[in-house]
Amino acid sequence: MSFRTRLTLFFLLIVVVPMIALGAVVARVVSTSQDAKAAAQNRASAAAALADVRRLAADGVAAAGRLARDPALAAASQTATAADDRARLRTLAAQLGLARVRLVRDGRTLADVGARTAIASGAVHVRRPAAAPVAIEVSTTTAGRFARTVSTHGVRALVTRDGALLASTLPARPAHPAAASPARLPAHGTVTLGGVAYAAASFTTRDFGGRPTTVAILTDRSAAASAVTRDQRIAIVLLALFLLLAFAGALLISRRLHGQVARFLLAAKRIGRGDFSGAVPVEGRDEFAQLGREFNRMSDQLERRMHELALERERLRESIQRIGATFAANLDRAALLEIGTRTIADAVQAQCGRAAVHAAADGALLEVARVGDLAAAQEAIATAETHLQAACGRPATATAGAVHALAVPLGAPDAPRGVVSVARPHQPFADAERELVASLARQTGLSLENVDLHDQVARQAVTDELTGLSNHGRFQQVIAAEAAAARRFDHPLGLVMLDIDDFKRVNDTYGHQQGDLVLREVAAALRACSREVDEPARYGGEELAVALQQTDLDGAEAIAERVRMTVEALALPRLDGAGTLRVTVSCGVAASADGDPVALVAAADAALYGAKRSGKNRTVRAEPAVAAGGAG
Ligand code: GH3
Ligand code: MG
Ligand code: MG
Repeated sequence: MSFRTRLTLFFLLIVVVPMIALGAVVARVVSTSQDAKAAAQNRASAAAALADVRRLAADGVAAAGRLARDPALAAASQTATAADDRARLRTLAAQLGLARVRLVRDGRTLADVGARTAIASGAVHVRRPAAAPVAIEVSTTTAGRFARTVSTHGVRALVTRDGALLASTLPARPAHPAAASPARLPAHGTVTLGGVAYAAASFTTRDFGGRPTTVAILTDRSAAASAVTRDQRIAIVLLALFLLLAFAGALLISRRLHGQVARFLLAAKRIGRGDFSGAVPVEGRDEFAQLGREFNRMSDQLERRMHELALERERLRESIQRIGATFAANLDRAALLEIGTRTIADAVQAQCGRAAVHAAADGALLEVARVGDLAAAQEAIATAETHLQAACGRPATATAGAVHALAVPLGAPDAPRGVVSVARPHQPFADAERELVASLARQTGLSLENVDLHDQVARQAVTDELTGLSNHGRFQQVIAAEAAAARRFDHPLGLVMLDIDDFKRVNDTYGHQQGDLVLREVAAALRACSREVDEPARYGGEELAVALQQTDLDGAEAIAERVRMTVEALALPRLDGAGTLRVTVSCGVAASADGDPVALVAAADAALYGAKRSGKNRTVRAEPAVAAGGAG
């Protein structure tokens, strides 16, 4: 059941039903009071009619008195002829406007003129000296005239005598005279005649020799009822008006309530769809307005939360991306430091941050990564970093103006590799944030250690353990790469190969450890004579080599000679402590621009062989045919 239907039903229950009940009670009270009113009105009409009858009877007595004094009637009475009496009576009755006149002596009617329906008679007895008295009975009105006189709007009259109907002002005659018989007409009460209900009151008078004449006054209850109906109608109209007003009011209130609820529903649905664009309209100060205001506040908060959630999600996405980037960059020191610093700054919503490492033994810091604009935070960060040195590995903070800075060790707190600092305005760093930043910086330091470890292993893989020069494998890589570059840029590529002369004898004479020492010293001499960009290598045994980029045969020969002479000049300490020993080396040099490393090595090797053959401790250039490209 909808809210609106429930509201309407509730309204019907509390307003319409009681109003209808009240209406019924009012109608009943009005009807009862109108019944009583009809009965009272009828009684009053009957009393007035009775008074009329008495007045008319008195009028009859007065008229009879005048007749008694009439000499002509007295003379006529003397003759004792009824015919004379009647003639005179008729004349007098006509003159006096009488309805009926009767003369009676000794119970015998002497004369009787006028209407037999005359009622309310009055009588006078005339005495004569020698005769019985004569009664003169006079009536001034007929039953019909009387009935009409007493009948007014809604009031009817019935006149009966000896059970016979004399007059009636009923709209229709009763179907049977008996219907209006005195027996059926109560002194007071109700009666139904011709289908019409009347309030009835009757009284009986005696006239013309004591015959009972009954007058019944009937008040049409329906006339009274019509008055009732009119009152009722007014009450009903008023009631209906009230109901209409109440209904209209209820409809209006229900519409407004429903409208408000519908607006809330619409807004709730809109928010459910994630649309926070519109607010619920708020009017007035009632509970609905308060509800609307709270609803709007809730919607605003929800929107803010959603926005924060979206930002959080974006941060999470970036973090995941960064984790991916970290995997990719796990051997790239610079990228690792940059990602680490950015992650630490984002983790505490810092505005800027930097990572610095101890570059020299004195602990001076060298900035290696930077996030955001450090300009405004320089002072705070520098102070925090100074505090950190005295903080024994604990996170250190500093504030400069509105900027708060936090510095933590990069790597293990007891042996930090450097420092990571972050800064932000207005908001100091909480303990939990310090811990988080310290933990992330520790992990970043750990990653750096891993990079170093990897570098070390990688270096070991290409380094000869004894001499510290590149090993054979690395030499092959280098010469292949240099040959490719020489090919690409059309540069000459030189190669020096050298072999220690009579090394076997050193081993045999002074032992292998002495031999190792000699090998290391010769290698060091080769490194010292090489350029920064060159990578001297131990080719195998006591044979060393160095590829020389952008170097022609002459250049290679010059370098070889420098090495040869350096070694020749070395006074190597003897392990047995008995002075020094000397060694020499033979060198083979070659150069090439055609970019074939195999041919180049073969040429240099052949030249070295040539140097050995021709007496050792010398440098031999490769055959011109092989070194054609570089000899030019
Ligand atoms: P040549 O002048 O013709 O080069 O004579 P050589 O004695 O130097 O040549 P040979 O090839 O006969 O001997 C090379 C010796 O180098 C043999 C080997 O024992 C020694 N040797 C190779 N590698 C090492 C090393 O790592 N340490 C030591 N102590 N000796 C080594
Ligand atoms: Mg040798
Ligand atoms: Mg050798």
